[in-house]
Amino acid sequence: MAELLKVDEIDGAIASDDGYGARLTVDLDALVSNWRSCCAMSGNARCAAVVKADAYGLGAVPAVSALYEAGCRDLFVATAREGAELRRHAPNARIYVMNCMLPGIETICRAAELVPVLASMEQVAWWSAHCIEVNDHPCALQVDTGMNRLGVTVEDALDLAGDVSRPAGFVPVLVMSHLASSDDPDHPQNAAQLERFRRVADAFDGVEASLAASAGILLGPDYHFDLTRPGIALYGGRAANRGDTPLLAVATAEARIMTIRQARAGETVSYGATVELSRDSRIAVCSIGYADGYLRSVSGSGVPLRDVVGNGASGWINGQAAPVLGRVTMDITAFDITDLPADSVSVGDFIELFGLNMPLDDVAHAAGTIGYELLTSLGKRYRRHYIRPQSESSGHG
Ligand SMILES: *Cc1c(COP(=O)(O)O)cnc(C)c1O
Repeated sequence: MAELLKVDEIDGAIASDDGYGARLTVDLDALVSNWRSCCAMSGNARCAAVVKADAYGLGAVPAVSALYEAGCRDLFVATAREGAELRRHAPNARIYVMNCMLPGIETICRAAELVPVLASMEQVAWWSAHCIEVNDHPCALQVDTGMNRLGVTVEDALDLAGDVSRPAGFVPVLVMSHLASSDDPDHPQNAAQLERFRRVADAFDGVEASLAASAGILLGPDYHFDLTRPGIALYGGRAANRGDTPLLAVATAEARIMTIRQARAGETVSYGATVELSRDSRIAVCSIGYADGYLRSVSGSGVPLRDVVGNGASGWINGQAAPVLGRVTMDITAFDITDLPADSVSVGDFIELFGLNMPLDDVAHAAGTIGYELLTSLGKRYRRHYIRPQSESSGHG
């Protein structure tokens, strides 16, 4: 049996499959442009790129390659493994590892020259002991100024800074903290965290300091210190609750119409019959579902969130919004295209789920979540297509 399998032929057919159901276009030009905007907004501070979680779901290797080419030399990842996988694409960048600082990651940090961000006194002691035993290796120190998540206390940080001998083997190249409420520029916690962090940054004379993520950059120069750490802003998501994002959409997710059906007023659509059609309707049945990160909570009806946020999501097709009808299912979603001219939509056409025309954050709002979660939920089934800086778009579509 096995020798009958035409493996190469199957692989070739998969690679050239034009009947795929969903497409994700990532505009690396827009990504680089957003990073440059963040650099400009960061004033005198250097601007890093946060590329954890596969660059927020968009593909860390192409994202880092483009950012590195543009001159970005500071990267933040969540896990050591993420950092190690990126090293060959960013040979001279400083790569900071923000979590998972458990004993066992020493080897990978050394092999890939990653900078661990130590986030408790226990971690400082363990890493210092390791460095005394093996060799000095730069680290960063995370200080908790109000988030109560990761970081040593301000008091412990000041003690560490004041200790002239510093624990041998403790060689910080960065002190950092994270703002809990920067998406709300009027929140009093911002100024309180700033004041605490400033004491630490001053105490660590000669060591670089970093406080601001995307939303923190918008709080102004006081928050910038030496290095800013934007993530979501690079990917075109909204960081602050107020005002428009001046940045460009980077990711466009689209699904294809598998079939177009007519249904009569009074009929229902999808599981649970949660929507009853008020008119004769045309329905575009599309190849997308919650397994692709088109979250079930964007359903037009039949999910508890509709009691809180009135409308579900809409797709975008031919310059018009087409609302989701009934429940999103694992692989299939129905959109109402009754209001589009009958000859304007065909089987095989793409409907935009979010991206250039349908703002990511509007869809996130309909799902009761934030753009971050939509991006990092994108599944594996999209045909991915990268628009590279200084090159014509190529590939499929
Ligand atoms: C994720 C993260 C960032 C980036 O945050 P954005 O809001 O996406 O800009 C920065 N710093 C830390 C510590 C983070 O965990």
